[in-house]
Amino acid sequence: MTSLVAPIITHAETTPDHEALRGPAGSLTYAQLVGEVKAYAGMLAARGVAPGDRILFIGPTLPEFVVGYLGIHAAGAIVVPVNPLCTPAELSYFIDDAGCRLAIAWESLASAARTAASEKGIDFLTLSAGATADADAITDVHDFDDADIAMLLYTSGTTGRPKGAELTTGNLTAAARISGQLSQSTADDRVGTGLPLFHVFGQAAVMLSGLHSGATVSLLPMFTPTSMIDLIVKDQLTIVCGVPTMWNAMLHAPDDTPADAFNHLRLAVSGGASLPLEVSNAFKRRFGCDISEGYGLTETAALGTFSRPGTPSPIGTVGPAVPEVDVEVRGSDGQPVPTGERGEVFIRGPIVMRGYWNRPDATAETIDADGWLSTGDIGEFDEAGNLRIVDRAKELIIRGGYNVYPSEVENALYEHPDIVEVAVVGVPDEHYGEEIAAVIATTPGVTLDAAAVRDWANDRLASYKLPRAVHFVDALPKGPSGKILKRAIDPEPLLAAV
Ligand code: ATP
Repeated sequence: MTSLVAPIITHAETTPDHEALRGPAGSLTYAQLVGEVKAYAGMLAARGVAPGDRILFIGPTLPEFVVGYLGIHAAGAIVVPVNPLCTPAELSYFIDDAGCRLAIAWESLASAARTAASEKGIDFLTLSAGATADADAITDVHDFDDADIAMLLYTSGTTGRPKGAELTTGNLTAAARISGQLSQSTADDRVGTGLPLFHVFGQAAVMLSGLHSGATVSLLPMFTPTSMIDLIVKDQLTIVCGVPTMWNAMLHAPDDTPADAFNHLRLAVSGGASLPLEVSNAFKRRFGCDISEGYGLTETAALGTFSRPGTPSPIGTVGPAVPEVDVEVRGSDGQPVPTGERGEVFIRGPIVMRGYWNRPDATAETIDADGWLSTGDIGEFDEAGNLRIVDRAKELIIRGGYNVYPSEVENALYEHPDIVEVAVVGVPDEHYGEEIAAVIATTPGVTLDAAAVRDWANDRLASYKLPRAVHFVDALPKGPSGKILKRAIDPEPLLAAV
C-alpha cells in the first residue's frame, strides 16, 4: 500500500503506546495518532470529500496540524498547506488555482480563510482539538499510486504568481525515508522543531521522517530562541531541525542553561539557506553538537544534498548528493562542468516533483525530458563530491563586470560579533551597473555605523566586494520558514545610500 500513513500504522501496530507527537497541550501515542487520523478522514468523507479533491489547509506547528494533514491524505484528497499569514486575496488565488473544494483553518488563524472561502463559495471547516468527536473513522486509509499527487505546495513566486509544486505520495515517502536514513533516526529519537509545517522542510524532514522512523516528534508552535532551547532541554531532544536564522537567534539568547543540559542532542539539521561558518562554529561551542547542513527545494521535497553526520563535509559545503538522488553542476552549454567549476545545479531522483499544477510550460522549463530539475542555484563540487552552493543565480551581483556572490560578503559580515542578521543585495548603479548594499540588524542596544562595517569588510574581502551602501534595521524581513526574504527588503534607503 502506498500512503504516507502506512508506515505510521505499522508503528501503531508494533508499538501502540509509544509517543508519536508532543505539543504544548499534550501528546499522542502512535495508536492514538492513527485513530485520530482515521476519524479525521471519516469526518471529511462524511462531508463529501472524495479522492483527488484539493483542500486548502492552514494550521500552526501543533499535533492537530499533523492529524488534519494526514487525515486529508487518508481520505485520498490532496492537501494544499498555506501560510497562516496569507490575506483573503492571496487565499482566494490559491483556492481558484488549485480548485479547492474546502478550506480548513485553525480557529485562531481562521479569519482570512473564512472570508476567502465564503467569497469563493466553498465549504469552510475549523481545525481544532476534538474536531472528530462525532466522526465515524474510516477502516482503511486511501491507497495511492506513487505518482499520485499528495500535496500542492505553492512556491512563493519570485517571478509571476505562485505555482503549485505537485509533490506525489512517492516523492514524500522517498523524502521521509532518505531523511530518516541520513539522520539515522530510530524509535528512540526525539525530534523537535519550531519550523512551520506548511513548509516542505518541516513536513518532510521532521514530521514525515520522524513519524515514519517511529520517533517522537516535538512541535513548537511559535519559535523563539528561548522556547526552542527550553524544548530541547524539556523534551530531551536528540535531533533538532531549523534554518540558519533560528540557530543564530538561539546563539544570541541568554546563556544561562548549563552546557550538560544538551548532552542528549546528537544532531542539528540545517537547511533552507546558507549556514554561515561563524554560526556553525558558535553552535558547536554552545550546544556541543554539530550542525549537518542539507540543501534542497520545495520542488525536490527538501532534499538534494546532505553533509553526513559523523563525517562532516568541509565548512561552506552542503555535502554530497543524498542516497537515490543525482546532482549535477552544468555550464551554460548544458554540459556538466569539471570539479571546482561553477554552474547551475540540477537534481534528479524520486524526490523531484511531478510538475507545477496546471502549468505545463513552467514544468517543461524546469524539468527536462530525462527528469533533471533545474534549481536556479549556482554551485560547484569539490574533489570529494561535496556541493557548495555559491548563490542563487538570480541573486548574483554583477558590479563593474565582476561577479560578487552575496553569501561571501554576508559570511564576512557575520563574523562581526555584533551583526545578528545581514542580507547583501545589488542595487542599480549608473557607473558600475550594480552596487553592493548590506542591510544589517545588530545586537540590540549596540550601534554600528557604515564606516565600521566597511572597515570590517575591508580586512576580509577584495575591494570590489565591499558594501557601498549600509543600512541598519531592527530585523530583516523573513519568509515563511524563517529564511531572510531578500525580495521584501525596502530598496529606497539603499538607493539613497549608494
Ligand atoms: P521561492 O518559492 O520564491 O523560490 P524559496 O526559494 O525560498 O522561495 P524554497 O523551495 O523554500 O523556496 O527554497 C529553496 C532554495 O533555498 C534553494 O533553491 C536555494 O537557493 C536555497 N537553499 C536551500 N538550502 C540551502 C543551503 N543549505 N544553502 C544555500 N541555499 C539553500
